[in-house]
Amino acid sequence: MKYDYIIAGSGCAGLSLLYKLLQTPSLQDKSILVVDQDQKKSNDRTWCFWEKKPGMFESIVHAKWNTLEFVSTHFKKELALESYTYKMIQGIDFYNFVINFAKKFKNVTFLQETITHIDATSEGAILKTAENTYTASYIFNSTSLFNPKITEQNSLLQHFKGWVIQTEKPVFNPKIGRLMDFSLPQDNGATFMYVLPTSNTEALVEYTLFSPTLLDKEKYTEALKKYIKEELKIEYYTVLHEEFGVIPMSLARFDENPKENIINMGTSGGFTKASSGYTFQFIQKNVSEIAKNLQAGKNPNQPNSFKAKLYHWYDRTLIDVLLTKKLTGKEVFTRIFKKIMPEKILAFLGNESTLAEDLSIMKSLPLLPFLTSGIKQLFGKRF
Ligand SMILES: Cc1cc2nc3c(=O)[nH]c(=O)nc-3n(C[C@H](O)[C@H](O)[C@H](O)COP(=O)(O)OP(=O)(O)OC[C@H]3O[C@@H](n4cnc5c(N)ncnc54)[C@H](O)[C@@H]3O)c2cc1C
Repeated sequence: MKYDYIIAGSGCAGLSLLYKLLQTPSLQDKSILVVDQDQKKSNDRTWCFWEKKPGMFESIVHAKWNTLEFVSTHFKKELALESYTYKMIQGIDFYNFVINFAKKFKNVTFLQETITHIDATSEGAILKTAENTYTASYIFNSTSLFNPKITEQNSLLQHFKGWVIQTEKPVFNPKIGRLMDFSLPQDNGATFMYVLPTSNTEALVEYTLFSPTLLDKEKYTEALKKYIKEELKIEYYTVLHEEFGVIPMSLARFDENPKENIINMGTSGGFTKASSGYTFQFIQKNVSEIAKNLQAGKNPNQPNSFKAKLYHWYDRTLIDVLLTKKLTGKEVFTRIFKKIMPEKILAFLGNESTLAEDLSIMKSLPLLPFLTSGIKQLFGKRF
């Protein structure tokens, strides 16, 4: 049987697309095969993102904040987000929500197999697993089969360990999330703590670094323990949940869909913002675009817009500045948060800013390092 669509990988991007297709009247009857090697039964990640309006997954938002704070050495600023809300969704809620919804549709088939090969054919696209071969008009891929090589020369890694901790006494203010606390030693690259309270006794505390290599496992635990004790002044707590992650922040260019009927999505499609690691909100915009094109009878394989290319260049410029150690991440983020209104920073980081806002952010930073890295990223070696 030839499917209309195969969704290869049912993580954030695959399931976001599936949900969007099933929400779209003219697409919800298409035959869809969803292939993943994993059953998506574990709470393996927490997604934070910001948006102006309630999004597709509003009903499973676990916590939200209209105020965040930024902390650096001798500097602390409360950030009123104005039109934006910062939101958190737990991985397991997301997987259950989409999979349970999709199971009501007879035209959707879930398959647990490891994908070994994806290719284009004259009539569409083909996917192979160790056991079987499947064909479709389009394959939407979020596995790493087409990923560029991530090396120390072309990438920083965003690596982090997070604990959801619970205290006996009320110690947190759930109305304010700490987006970044840079007042930590910066010996291993840009290093900050992230504290998101979901109630007055519970918070996600995450130790995050941007650097070319990972730390020894115990270093993350040591840093979390020290921060909770010395900065948050919490002696007694229980760790309810732990997450560890590595997100590529790369100069490597993810191919603009190498094959006609194969559409790369998610991190593998280049939708992880290289300068911040945020991906969730960019995935949502991308799946809306895909559904819009399919609805209009267009090939969803569209080239990147000028604006998307511009933001990729901004991102690569910042990564280059950090990789070549022209400035530290702490210096860059502290300058921006000191000088720019939070709403404008979120617009910029969310690829929603105007050119005038982009220029005001650039003006808050030293010109020379960004100019040299920017020119290099425009005309220099492509990874
Ligand atoms: C712990 C963690 C926390 C994060 N937090 C945030 C956050 O707060 N905000 C944010 O915006 N981003 C965050 N990210 C980054 C990003 O949003 C996630 O990585 C997101 O899951 C990317 O979606 P994806 O669909 O591209 O990849 P995934 O969600 O990883 O999905 C890929 C799927 O492909 C499957 N797969 C891979 N290879 C094969 C194969 N050969 N055969 C079959 N199946 C295969 C995998 O099993 C997986 O289900 C986080 C990442 C991690 C790891």
